[in-house]
Amino acid sequence: MTCHPGEPDDTGPGRTESCPVRAFVTQLTPEGRGAIAVVRIWGPDAIDVASALFRPQGRLRLDQTAPGRLRLGRIGDALGDEVVAVVLEAAIPTVEVQCHGGAAAVELVVSALEKAGAQRCDRWRVTEQTAGDRLSAEALNDLAHAPTILTAEILLDQARGALREELVRLTTAIDQKPEQALANVEELIGRAAVGVRLLTGWRVVIAGRPNVGKSRLLNALAGFPRAIVDPAPGTTRDVVTIRTSFGGWPVEIVDTAGLRTTNDAIENLGIAMSQREQERADLVLLVLDRSEPLQPIDRRLLATTAGALPIANKSDLAPAWSPADVPIDPSDIVTVSADRGDGVTGLIAKIVERLVPDPPPVGQALPFRPAHHDDLRQIRVSLLANNRAAAFHRLNSMIHGPARVGP
Ligand code: GDP
Repeated sequence: MTCHPGEPDDTGPGRTESCPVRAFVTQLTPEGRGAIAVVRIWGPDAIDVASALFRPQGRLRLDQTAPGRLRLGRIGDALGDEVVAVVLEAAIPTVEVQCHGGAAAVELVVSALEKAGAQRCDRWRVTEQTAGDRLSAEALNDLAHAPTILTAEILLDQARGALREELVRLTTAIDQKPEQALANVEELIGRAAVGVRLLTGWRVVIAGRPNVGKSRLLNALAGFPRAIVDPAPGTTRDVVTIRTSFGGWPVEIVDTAGLRTTNDAIENLGIAMSQREQERADLVLLVLDRSEPLQPIDRRLLATTAGALPIANKSDLAPAWSPADVPIDPSDIVTVSADRGDGVTGLIAKIVERLVPDPPPVGQALPFRPAHHDDLRQIRVSLLANNRAAAFHRLNSMIHGPARVGP
């Protein structure tokens, strides 16, 4: 039989015969190297199992220690690992062990607990158990992968119920005010554009003909030298990518270098590559060299890279053209010196403005997975077709359906 450690059936008094497993163990902290890892043991026999293995530094055994009191000791064969153990005050008997963070140290502790009778369990199960509902479980799961503090804060809001509460309100609205419900769904769909990027980030592509300063700009945006920059065109051979964050939003910057063959081919290659990258990009930074007269390829790139953010680079040199010379609104052009860093802060602000025009306020409900986005679009279709039952059904499964580990 399958045991579900989070369910009271497994742990409640008198139900022990329904599930032979009396203690479960899992690593709570993500795999990988770290200073400290946290291992959780829970179930009816969790305290006995942990106490039998835990060799305290002081006199008292773990099962004689008051909940919440940290105890130093050792777990594992021979010398074992030095750990801190604590019995938690929880509905289900629970012990948390903090051990050294390397994979081997964690394995030593977990396998010792396994040998003592605890069943190894997936961390996701603990997340589901801690969260209590589907959307909180998914938010807590994603929180472990949040790349920035801002994205972690937004996911924490969802783990605390921001999205769930909004969806519950929507259930009532579908019933009582369908038009209002449709407007709310539209708004949530709009917000999902940010939500689904919390983990993956946005893709910003730097495009432009050779030698305009793309690699230099990448370095300036990244804040450290990454791409090789050389006065001779053609030095940076491959597409260079870095991950960073602007204003707390995760961003991947791609330098479309390597657009060099013969002069004729450059023009076609440049445009083809820019167009290809643009399809995958959330934003294209089209770099122009302000110290040289604009070339036909610059004008063609400007004409073909719709929605790009044009950048007039090399502002530290004498200008060979002015923003009024290009066939776009001059106020759209950002002037920088990638070499000296002038204007780069303003450029970053402009990039953030373009990527996240409506940053979510603290505590706002945000659909944060592509599956939520799909559900909401489907609900929208149902509401437009006046099929309230279908909309309600889908919404209900968004709130109460089974949680999914991965996005
Ligand atoms: P890419 O081919 O577009 O990637 O251009 P690079 O970044 O390799 O730069 C080409 C040349 O322009 C190098 O010699 C850089 O030092 C120079 N360069 C780039 N940005 C600036 C700038 O803002 N000011 C000046 N004066 N030179 C720059």
